[in-house]
This record gives sequence, structure tokens and C-alpha cells, in this order.
Amino acid sequence: MEPLVDGWGRRIGSVRISVTDKCNFRCTYCMPAEGLEWLRRDEILTFEEIARLTAILAALGVGEVRLTGGEPLVRRDLPDLVRMLAAIPGIDDLSLTTNGILLTRLAGALVDAGLRRINVSLDSLDHVRFAEIARRDALDQVLAGLAEAERYPELRPLKVNCVAIKGFTEQEVPALAELARRKPYVVRFIEFMPLDADRAWSADQVLTGGEIRALIEAEHGPLVEIPAKPSSTARRFRFADGHGEIGFINPVSEPFCSSCDRIRVTADGQLRTCLFSRREWDVKTALRDGRTDAEVADFLRFAVRHKELKHRVNEPGFVRASRSMSQIGG
Ligand code: SF4
Repeated sequence: MEPLVDGWGRRIGSVRISVTDKCNFRCTYCMPAEGLEWLRRDEILTFEEIARLTAILAALGVGEVRLTGGEPLVRRDLPDLVRMLAAIPGIDDLSLTTNGILLTRLAGALVDAGLRRINVSLDSLDHVRFAEIARRDALDQVLAGLAEAERYPELRPLKVNCVAIKGFTEQEVPALAELARRKPYVVRFIEFMPLDADRAWSADQVLTGGEIRALIEAEHGPLVEIPAKPSSTARRFRFADGHGEIGFINPVSEPFCSSCDRIRVTADGQLRTCLFSRREWDVKTALRDGRTDAEVADFLRFAVRHKELKHRVNEPGFVRASRSMSQIGG
């Protein structure tokens, strides 16, 4: 079948699927302390609908699937969905982004089901500061979850994602850099993006990848860049002595839209062709109103032809996305 290509000639190879808008954390850069109004159960795509959509996308050449949330592990029986997706021909990369608190209980079942990569969000290794940013005193559970994931050699690489916020993260950098050196974790710093539900984001809160790299190099000497695949969001580096890998995801200071191969599907079945889309495409209705797989594929092609060239975060008049991060899934 013809691959999925957008109006700028970029071939779509990756889909991020949110399986729930709910989360058991209340990270300050994402969600209000009181949480958000959650979607009703009937508004959320079923496992069967997600599997059908994933199979249609796989046939269009989209072989990379990342499961996101909210917090995906709060969705009941998630290993069953992983097993369904891992069995789809053409899906060659199945991963998940999690806050890690449920990993001690679920890592084994996820690996058995076919999960092969995992990203764990971790913004601080200090208990007090962790609780300050996540609004949950759960650092030990997250670290225990990472340790549990480590027990499964099939689950590699193990990535740790830290959202970088000016005035907070500078203090976290040394410990997180050290974590990358002493543990088999790839630690990545992600620039803070205007996707917080409190709508408090401002450019001066962005601690850039370049600034963090300078902090690490002041301590450890020059980092060595590792080649990354063209559509990768991260710039990858290793320490000069070979111990550990660090990554920088710089959507604000070094946008990577020109090689973007990603689309997203929200928990309530809306296709977003860009993280910052202000327009959505109702895939849920396309899946539920009796259309054939070929008709759904045509709908996806039409939507992707309208994919945005890039985000406009750094431009005057930038208008925020119509949803916050937890309602998109990152
Ligand atoms: S901002 Fe949009 S176009 Fe740019 S990399 Fe992200 S999803 Fe792709």
C-alpha cells in the first residue's frame, strides 16, 4: 500500500497513541493540582478499536507505536492491548511512556506481552523536590519501577525523561547525569513546552538543551555526539570515557519539525497531526460508523496531507494547542 506522506513530502512512520487521559500524578508543568475533567468510558477508544487503527496504520507503513496517556499504566489490562498490538504485522517498534509508579507490578506482564522499549518520566532524584514537581511523594516507587524494568534485558533501551524547567532543573542535572553514568538508563532532558494545563508557560522558563549540556560538560568535560536517525527527536551524546548516554530533546531552542514523521491519536480517538495542532480529525467516528479499513485509510491519508509544517512556538502570535499535554499524550 502507498506509504502515508504529508503535504510536505514527509513520510509518517510513527504514531503515539494515548490510551487514557487519567493520571495518578499531578505534575506542575502538565496538570492542575485538582486534576482535569476526565473522559467518559464510552468516549475512549476500546482496545479493539486501537488495534484496528494500528493495523490500518501499519499497512500504511507506520511501524513505530508508542503508548502514552495521561498515565497509560492506569488503564486496566494494558498488557492485553500490548499483546494485541505486538501481534500486528508491520509493527516493529512498540514502546510506552510512563511515570513508572506502577512498573514494579506491571513490567513483567508488559514484557511478556511484547513491549520492547520504555520511557520513564523522572524530573528529580531528591524526594522533596520530586514531590514538589509531581505533587506525589513517589520517588522511591519510581526508582523501584526502573529497577524492576532493568531485570528484563528485552526492555532496552531504558530511557529516563526529565522535563527541563529554568530555576528548577539546574539543580537536578548533576544527579541525573550521574544516574546515566552508573545505571543502564539513557537520561534525556526535554525542554518545557507550552502544553501545561495551567497555561503558565513562558519562554523564559525554558532551560535549553544547550544550557544543560554546558552544565554537564563543566563537570564531565566535552560530551561526544552519537549519530541519531533522521526523525529522532533527541540529540544523543555519550560521556568521553564511554560511561553513559545523555540526550537532549530541544523542540523550543532547536526545533526538529523538518524531519517529523509523527502523528498522534488522543484517548478519545482524535488524530493530531502535530503536537501543537489546533485542528483534530475524528478517527473515532471513522472507526465506529461502519467505514471499511480502506475508507479509514483514505480518511487518514486526507488528514495527514494537512499535517502542519512545523510548530510556531517561537513566532509572534503563537496560539497554544487546543489541549494540554495529558490530553494529548506527549
Ligand atoms: S512540533 Fe509538530 S511538526 Fe514539530 S516535531 Fe513536533 S509534532 Fe512534528
